[in-house]
Amino acid sequence: MSNKPVFVTQPYLPPLEEFIPYLEKIWDNKILTNGGPYHQELEKALCEYLGVEHIALFANGTLALVSALQALRVTGEVITTPYSFVATAHSLLWNGIKPVFVDIDPSTFNLKAEKIEAAITPQTTAILPVHCYGYPCDTDRIQQIADSYGLKVIYDAAHAFGVKDQGGSILRHGDLSILSFHATKVFNTFEGGAIICPDSKTKQRIDYLKNFGIADETTVVAPGINGKMSEIHAAFGLLQLQHIDRVFSRRQEIDEIYREQLKDVKGIHIAEKSEEVSANYSYFPILIEAEYPLSRDELYQRLKDNNIFARRYFYPLITEFPMYRGLPSSQRSGLPVASEIAGKVLCLPIYPDISNNELSRIIAALKV
Ligand SMILES: *Cc1c(COP(=O)(O)O)cnc(C)c1O
Repeated sequence: MSNKPVFVTQPYLPPLEEFIPYLEKIWDNKILTNGGPYHQELEKALCEYLGVEHIALFANGTLALVSALQALRVTGEVITTPYSFVATAHSLLWNGIKPVFVDIDPSTFNLKAEKIEAAITPQTTAILPVHCYGYPCDTDRIQQIADSYGLKVIYDAAHAFGVKDQGGSILRHGDLSILSFHATKVFNTFEGGAIICPDSKTKQRIDYLKNFGIADETTVVAPGINGKMSEIHAAFGLLQLQHIDRVFSRRQEIDEIYREQLKDVKGIHIAEKSEEVSANYSYFPILIEAEYPLSRDELYQRLKDNNIFARRYFYPLITEFPMYRGLPSSQRSGLPVASEIAGKVLCLPIYPDISNNELSRIIAALKV
Protein backbone atom coordinates (compact mmCIF):
# COMPACT_ATOMS: atom_id res chain seq x y z
CA MET A 1 0.00 0.00 0.00
CA SER A 2 1.35 3.45 -0.86
CA ASN A 3 2.45 5.70 1.96
CA LYS A 4 2.08 9.11 0.35
CA PRO A 5 1.17 12.00 2.65
CA VAL A 6 -2.52 12.52 3.43
CA PHE A 7 -3.50 15.98 4.67
CA VAL A 8 -6.57 17.00 6.65
CA THR A 9 -7.97 18.45 3.47
CA GLN A 10 -7.12 18.86 -0.20
CA PRO A 11 -8.81 21.53 -2.30
CA TYR A 12 -11.27 20.29 -4.89
CA LEU A 13 -10.31 21.31 -8.43
CA PRO A 14 -12.43 20.55 -11.51
CA PRO A 15 -10.63 19.41 -14.69
CA LEU A 16 -8.42 22.27 -15.92
CA GLU A 17 -9.79 22.17 -19.47
CA GLU A 18 -13.23 23.07 -18.16
CA PHE A 19 -11.87 26.36 -16.84
CA ILE A 20 -10.27 27.50 -20.12
CA PRO A 21 -13.49 28.79 -21.78
CA TYR A 22 -14.13 31.03 -18.76
CA LEU A 23 -10.65 32.50 -19.06
CA GLU A 24 -11.09 33.06 -22.80
CA LYS A 25 -14.20 35.08 -22.13
CA ILE A 26 -12.37 37.26 -19.60
CA TRP A 27 -9.52 37.78 -22.10
CA ASP A 28 -12.09 38.79 -24.72
CA ASN A 29 -14.08 41.29 -22.69
CA LYS A 30 -11.18 42.65 -20.58
CA ILE A 31 -13.34 42.95 -17.47
CA LEU A 32 -11.20 41.73 -14.58
CA THR A 33 -13.03 42.95 -11.47
CA ASN A 34 -15.44 45.58 -10.02
CA GLY A 35 -18.63 43.56 -10.19
CA GLY A 36 -18.17 42.20 -13.72
CA PRO A 37 -20.41 39.67 -15.49
CA TYR A 38 -19.03 36.55 -13.74
CA HIS A 39 -19.32 38.28 -10.37
CA GLN A 40 -22.99 39.06 -11.05
CA GLU A 41 -23.62 35.59 -12.38
CA LEU A 42 -22.04 33.93 -9.34
CA GLU A 43 -24.09 36.04 -6.93
CA LYS A 44 -27.24 34.92 -8.71
CA ALA A 45 -26.19 31.29 -8.88
CA LEU A 46 -25.23 31.18 -5.20
CA CYS A 47 -28.52 32.77 -4.09
CA GLU A 48 -30.31 30.05 -6.00
CA TYR A 49 -28.09 27.22 -4.82
CA LEU A 50 -28.06 28.26 -1.18
CA GLY A 51 -31.69 29.36 -1.07
CA VAL A 52 -31.01 32.91 0.13
CA GLU A 53 -32.26 36.28 -1.12
CA HIS A 54 -29.14 38.45 -1.29
CA ILE A 55 -25.43 37.80 -1.27
CA ALA A 56 -22.41 40.11 -1.56
CA LEU A 57 -19.21 38.43 -2.75
CA PHE A 58 -15.85 39.25 -1.16
CA ALA A 59 -12.16 38.64 -1.80
CA ASN A 60 -12.06 36.43 1.32
CA GLY A 61 -14.06 35.54 4.41
CA THR A 62 -12.04 37.74 6.77
CA LEU A 63 -12.75 40.93 4.82
CA ALA A 64 -16.40 39.86 4.75
CA LEU A 65 -16.38 39.53 8.57
CA VAL A 66 -14.65 42.89 9.07
CA SER A 67 -17.06 44.57 6.64
CA ALA A 68 -20.17 42.94 8.15
CA LEU A 69 -19.28 44.45 11.54
CA GLN A 70 -18.79 47.83 9.83
CA ALA A 71 -22.06 47.53 7.93
CA LEU A 72 -24.03 47.06 11.16
CA ARG A 73 -21.93 49.72 12.95
CA VAL A 74 -21.03 47.27 15.69
CA THR A 75 -18.92 48.83 18.48
CA GLY A 76 -18.03 48.28 22.14
CA GLU A 77 -18.12 44.62 23.16
CA VAL A 78 -19.14 41.54 21.17
CA ILE A 79 -19.82 38.09 22.59
CA THR A 80 -18.08 35.33 20.68
CA THR A 81 -16.58 31.84 20.93
CA PRO A 82 -12.99 30.92 21.78
CA TYR A 83 -13.39 27.68 19.79
CA SER A 84 -12.85 28.86 16.21
CA PHE A 85 -10.26 29.94 13.70
CA VAL A 86 -8.50 33.15 14.83
CA ALA A 87 -10.08 35.23 12.05
CA THR A 88 -13.37 35.28 13.98
CA ALA A 89 -11.90 37.25 16.89
CA HIS A 90 -9.37 39.14 14.74
CA SER A 91 -12.27 40.73 12.83
CA LEU A 92 -13.34 42.32 16.13
CA LEU A 93 -9.89 43.69 16.95
CA TRP A 94 -9.64 45.15 13.42
CA ASN A 95 -12.78 47.13 14.25
CA GLY A 96 -11.56 48.25 17.67
CA ILE A 97 -14.18 46.01 19.32
CA LYS A 98 -13.51 44.10 22.54
CA PRO A 99 -14.20 40.36 22.25
CA VAL A 100 -15.96 38.75 25.20
CA PHE A 101 -15.47 34.99 25.11
CA VAL A 102 -18.19 32.63 26.30
CA ASP A 103 -17.92 28.86 26.74
CA ILE A 104 -19.24 26.31 24.26
CA ASP A 105 -21.71 23.44 24.29
CA PRO A 106 -19.94 20.05 24.34
CA SER A 107 -22.37 18.44 21.89
CA THR A 108 -22.31 21.10 19.14
CA PHE A 109 -18.92 22.80 19.80
CA ASN A 110 -20.82 26.10 19.47
CA LEU A 111 -21.47 29.03 21.81
CA LYS A 112 -23.59 27.86 24.74
CA ALA A 113 -26.70 30.03 24.51
CA GLU A 114 -27.43 29.66 28.24
CA LYS A 115 -24.10 31.30 29.05
CA ILE A 116 -24.52 34.36 26.83
CA GLU A 117 -26.75 36.47 29.07
CA ALA A 118 -24.31 36.55 31.99
CA ALA A 119 -21.66 38.04 29.65
CA ILE A 120 -23.83 40.94 28.43
CA THR A 121 -22.83 44.42 29.70
CA PRO A 122 -24.05 47.93 28.77
CA GLN A 123 -21.25 47.97 26.14
CA THR A 124 -22.41 44.79 24.38
CA THR A 125 -23.78 45.49 20.90
CA ALA A 126 -23.67 42.13 19.14
CA ILE A 127 -23.14 38.36 19.25
CA LEU A 128 -20.72 36.69 16.82
CA PRO A 129 -21.31 32.92 16.94
CA VAL A 130 -19.68 30.35 14.66
CA HIS A 131 -21.42 27.32 13.15
CA CYS A 132 -18.36 25.26 14.02
CA TYR A 133 -17.64 22.37 11.59
CA GLY A 134 -20.93 23.35 9.93
CA TYR A 135 -22.93 22.18 12.98
CA PRO A 136 -25.77 24.69 13.47
CA CYS A 137 -25.76 26.97 16.50
CA ASP A 138 -28.78 27.22 18.79
CA THR A 139 -30.14 29.92 16.50
CA ASP A 140 -33.56 30.22 18.19
CA ARG A 141 -32.16 30.84 21.67
CA ILE A 142 -29.51 33.20 20.36
CA GLN A 143 -32.12 35.25 18.51
CA GLN A 144 -34.34 35.41 21.62
CA ILE A 145 -31.44 36.76 23.69
CA ALA A 146 -30.48 39.23 20.96
CA ASP A 147 -34.07 40.47 20.75
CA SER A 148 -34.47 40.96 24.46
CA TYR A 149 -31.21 42.94 24.77
CA GLY A 150 -31.33 44.73 21.40
CA LEU A 151 -28.18 43.06 20.05
CA LYS A 152 -27.15 42.32 16.47
CA VAL A 153 -26.25 38.75 15.49
CA ILE A 154 -23.58 38.03 12.89
CA TYR A 155 -22.90 34.37 12.16
CA ASP A 156 -19.44 33.28 11.12
CA ALA A 157 -20.72 30.58 8.76
CA ALA A 158 -17.31 29.93 7.17
CA HIS A 159 -17.81 26.18 7.75
CA ALA A 160 -21.50 26.10 6.91
CA PHE A 161 -21.79 26.33 3.11
CA GLY A 162 -24.86 24.36 2.03
CA VAL A 163 -26.01 23.39 5.53
CA LYS A 164 -29.79 23.33 6.02
CA ASP A 165 -31.99 22.97 9.06
CA GLN A 166 -35.70 22.21 9.00
CA GLY A 167 -36.53 25.77 7.94
CA GLY A 168 -34.05 25.89 5.01
CA SER A 169 -30.54 27.35 4.71
CA ILE A 170 -28.97 28.09 8.09
CA LEU A 171 -27.53 31.23 6.47
CA ARG A 172 -30.92 32.93 6.90
CA HIS A 173 -30.41 33.29 10.67
CA GLY A 174 -29.21 36.44 12.40
CA ASP A 175 -28.71 39.88 10.86
CA LEU A 176 -25.89 38.72 8.59
CA SER A 177 -23.97 35.51 7.87
CA ILE A 178 -20.45 35.24 6.54
CA LEU A 179 -19.05 32.57 4.23
CA SER A 180 -15.47 31.71 3.30
CA PHE A 181 -14.52 30.21 -0.05
CA HIS A 182 -10.90 29.62 0.95
CA ALA A 183 -9.06 26.70 -0.65
CA THR A 184 -9.63 24.56 2.46
CA LYS A 185 -13.41 25.02 2.57
CA VAL A 186 -16.05 22.71 1.02
CA PHE A 187 -16.76 25.22 -1.75
CA ASN A 188 -13.64 27.10 -2.82
CA THR A 189 -12.84 29.90 -5.25
CA PHE A 190 -9.07 29.69 -4.38
CA GLU A 191 -9.72 32.65 -2.04
CA GLY A 192 -13.13 34.18 -1.57
CA GLY A 193 -15.97 34.95 0.78
CA ALA A 194 -19.42 36.44 1.03
CA ILE A 195 -21.98 38.12 3.23
CA ILE A 196 -25.56 36.85 3.18
CA CYS A 197 -27.80 39.93 3.49
CA PRO A 198 -31.47 40.02 4.47
CA ASP A 199 -32.55 42.81 2.08
CA SER A 200 -31.38 44.78 -0.93
CA LYS A 201 -30.72 47.94 1.06
CA THR A 202 -28.23 46.16 3.34
CA LYS A 203 -26.61 44.55 0.30
CA GLN A 204 -26.26 47.97 -1.34
CA ARG A 205 -24.51 49.34 1.76
CA ILE A 206 -22.20 46.32 1.88
CA ASP A 207 -21.45 46.63 -1.84
CA TYR A 208 -20.36 50.24 -1.24
CA LEU A 209 -18.25 49.22 1.74
CA LYS A 210 -16.35 46.57 -0.22
CA ASN A 211 -15.53 49.08 -2.98
CA PHE A 212 -13.96 51.96 -0.96
CA GLY A 213 -17.43 53.35 -0.16
CA ILE A 214 -17.81 54.52 -3.75
CA ALA A 215 -21.45 55.04 -4.75
CA ASP A 216 -20.81 56.66 -8.13
CA GLU A 217 -18.12 58.61 -10.01
CA THR A 218 -18.28 61.59 -7.67
CA THR A 219 -19.79 60.16 -4.46
CA VAL A 220 -18.05 58.35 -1.61
CA VAL A 221 -20.50 57.42 1.15
CA ALA A 222 -18.31 55.55 3.67
CA PRO A 223 -14.65 54.84 4.50
CA GLY A 224 -14.84 51.51 2.69
CA ILE A 225 -12.21 48.90 1.96
CA ASN A 226 -11.18 46.99 -1.13
CA GLY A 227 -12.90 43.66 -0.52
CA LYS A 228 -14.02 42.86 -4.06
CA MET A 229 -13.92 39.39 -5.61
CA SER A 230 -12.20 39.33 -9.03
CA GLU A 231 -13.68 37.90 -12.23
CA ILE A 232 -11.24 34.97 -12.22
CA HIS A 233 -12.35 33.91 -8.76
CA ALA A 234 -16.03 34.39 -9.60
CA ALA A 235 -15.68 32.39 -12.83
CA PHE A 236 -13.98 29.60 -10.91
CA GLY A 237 -16.84 29.62 -8.40
CA LEU A 238 -19.35 29.14 -11.22
CA LEU A 239 -17.39 26.12 -12.43
CA GLN A 240 -17.08 24.72 -8.89
CA LEU A 241 -20.85 24.96 -8.44
CA GLN A 242 -21.29 22.53 -11.33
CA HIS A 243 -19.33 19.94 -9.35
CA ILE A 244 -20.71 20.63 -5.88
CA ASP A 245 -23.15 17.71 -5.75
CA ARG A 246 -20.34 15.24 -6.39
CA VAL A 247 -18.24 16.96 -3.71
CA PHE A 248 -20.99 16.63 -1.11
CA SER A 249 -21.90 13.05 -1.95
CA ARG A 250 -18.29 11.84 -1.70
CA ARG A 251 -17.85 13.74 1.59
CA GLN A 252 -20.97 12.05 2.94
CA GLU A 253 -19.62 8.64 1.90
CA ILE A 254 -16.36 9.30 3.76
CA ASP A 255 -18.27 10.46 6.85
CA GLU A 256 -20.25 7.20 6.78
CA ILE A 257 -17.13 5.06 6.38
CA TYR A 258 -15.45 6.73 9.37
CA ARG A 259 -18.58 6.42 11.50
CA GLU A 260 -19.01 2.74 10.66
CA GLN A 261 -15.34 1.83 11.11
CA LEU A 262 -14.72 3.82 14.27
CA LYS A 263 -17.97 3.26 16.14
CA ASP A 264 -16.58 0.42 18.25
CA VAL A 265 -13.16 1.91 18.94
CA LYS A 266 -12.94 2.52 22.67
CA GLY A 267 -12.03 6.08 23.59
CA ILE A 268 -12.90 7.67 20.26
CA HIS A 269 -15.97 9.86 20.54
CA ILE A 270 -17.79 10.98 17.40
CA ALA A 271 -20.41 13.75 17.49
CA GLU A 272 -23.89 12.41 16.79
CA LYS A 273 -25.56 13.20 13.51
CA SER A 274 -28.77 15.23 13.78
CA GLU A 275 -31.76 14.03 11.78
CA GLU A 276 -32.94 17.63 11.52
CA VAL A 277 -29.83 18.91 9.79
CA SER A 278 -28.73 18.46 6.21
CA ALA A 279 -24.97 18.51 6.79
CA ASN A 280 -22.06 19.49 4.54
CA TYR A 281 -19.49 17.05 5.97
CA SER A 282 -16.87 19.78 5.98
CA TYR A 283 -14.87 18.30 8.88
CA PHE A 284 -14.63 15.01 10.71
CA PRO A 285 -13.79 15.85 14.34
CA ILE A 286 -13.20 13.08 16.88
CA LEU A 287 -12.58 13.42 20.62
CA ILE A 288 -9.87 11.27 22.18
CA GLU A 289 -11.15 10.24 25.60
CA ALA A 290 -9.27 8.80 28.59
CA GLU A 291 -10.12 5.15 27.64
CA TYR A 292 -8.12 5.46 24.43
CA PRO A 293 -4.67 3.87 24.77
CA LEU A 294 -2.87 7.05 23.62
CA SER A 295 -3.22 10.70 24.50
CA ARG A 296 -4.57 12.97 21.76
CA ASP A 297 -1.10 14.34 21.07
CA GLU A 298 0.44 10.85 21.00
CA LEU A 299 -2.17 9.80 18.46
CA TYR A 300 -1.58 12.97 16.44
CA GLN A 301 2.13 12.05 16.36
CA ARG A 302 1.42 8.39 15.53
CA LEU A 303 -0.65 9.50 12.54
CA LYS A 304 2.14 11.89 11.47
CA ASP A 305 4.65 9.06 11.65
CA ASN A 306 2.34 7.25 9.21
CA ASN A 307 2.34 10.28 6.92
CA ILE A 308 -1.22 11.22 7.92
CA PHE A 309 -1.60 14.88 8.86
CA ALA A 310 -4.72 15.22 11.00
CA ARG A 311 -5.23 18.67 12.59
CA ARG A 312 -6.12 19.76 16.11
CA TYR A 313 -8.88 22.21 15.17
CA PHE A 314 -9.32 24.17 17.47
CA TYR A 315 -6.25 23.91 19.61
CA PRO A 316 -4.96 26.22 20.98
CA LEU A 317 -8.13 28.16 21.74
CA ILE A 318 -8.22 31.73 20.39
CA THR A 319 -8.03 32.90 24.01
CA GLU A 320 -4.54 31.38 24.34
CA PHE A 321 -2.98 33.71 21.74
CA PRO A 322 -1.04 36.72 23.05
CA MET A 323 -3.45 39.40 21.76
CA TYR A 324 -6.38 37.78 23.65
CA ARG A 325 -4.70 36.12 26.64
CA GLY A 326 -4.98 39.13 28.96
CA LEU A 327 -8.75 39.63 28.63
CA PRO A 328 -10.83 38.69 31.68
CA SER A 329 -13.07 36.45 29.54
CA SER A 330 -10.00 34.56 28.24
CA GLN A 331 -9.27 32.86 31.54
CA ARG A 332 -9.55 29.06 31.34
CA SER A 333 -11.62 28.94 34.52
CA GLY A 334 -14.49 30.56 32.60
CA LEU A 335 -14.10 28.27 29.59
CA PRO A 336 -13.97 24.74 31.03
CA VAL A 337 -15.74 22.99 28.13
CA ALA A 338 -13.81 24.72 25.35
CA SER A 339 -10.54 24.05 27.19
CA GLU A 340 -11.35 20.38 27.63
CA ILE A 341 -12.42 19.85 24.03
CA ALA A 342 -9.40 21.72 22.66
CA GLY A 343 -7.30 19.12 24.49
CA LYS A 344 -9.19 16.15 23.04
CA VAL A 345 -10.09 17.06 19.48
CA LEU A 346 -8.56 15.78 16.28
CA CYS A 347 -9.95 16.45 12.79
CA LEU A 348 -9.45 13.53 10.41
CA PRO A 349 -8.78 13.95 6.69
CA ILE A 350 -11.96 14.42 4.66
CA TYR A 351 -12.04 15.60 1.05
CA PRO A 352 -13.58 14.34 -2.20
CA ASP A 353 -10.40 12.95 -3.76
CA ILE A 354 -9.28 10.86 -0.79
CA SER A 355 -9.13 7.21 -1.84
CA ASN A 356 -10.64 4.28 0.04
CA ASN A 357 -7.11 2.92 0.46
CA GLU A 358 -6.08 6.12 2.16
CA LEU A 359 -9.13 5.91 4.42
CA SER A 360 -8.16 2.32 5.34
CA ARG A 361 -4.65 3.50 6.21
CA ILE A 362 -6.08 6.20 8.50
CA ILE A 363 -8.53 3.83 10.17
CA ALA A 364 -5.83 1.20 10.69
CA ALA A 365 -3.59 3.78 12.34
CA LEU A 366 -6.43 4.79 14.68
CA LYS A 367 -6.98 1.20 15.83
CA VAL A 368 -4.02 1.02 18.19
C1 LIG B 1 -11.70 30.05 7.10
C2 LIG B 1 -12.34 30.77 8.22
C3 LIG B 1 -12.42 32.17 8.26
C4 LIG B 1 -11.65 33.06 7.34
O1 LIG B 1 -11.96 32.93 6.01
P1 LIG B 1 -10.88 33.36 4.90
O2 LIG B 1 -11.66 33.23 3.64
O3 LIG B 1 -9.75 32.40 5.00
O4 LIG B 1 -10.47 34.76 5.19
C5 LIG B 1 -13.15 32.77 9.28
N1 LIG B 1 -13.76 32.03 10.21
C6 LIG B 1 -13.69 30.69 10.23
C7 LIG B 1 -14.41 29.95 11.29
C8 LIG B 1 -12.95 30.02 9.25
O5 LIG B 1 -12.84 28.68 9.29
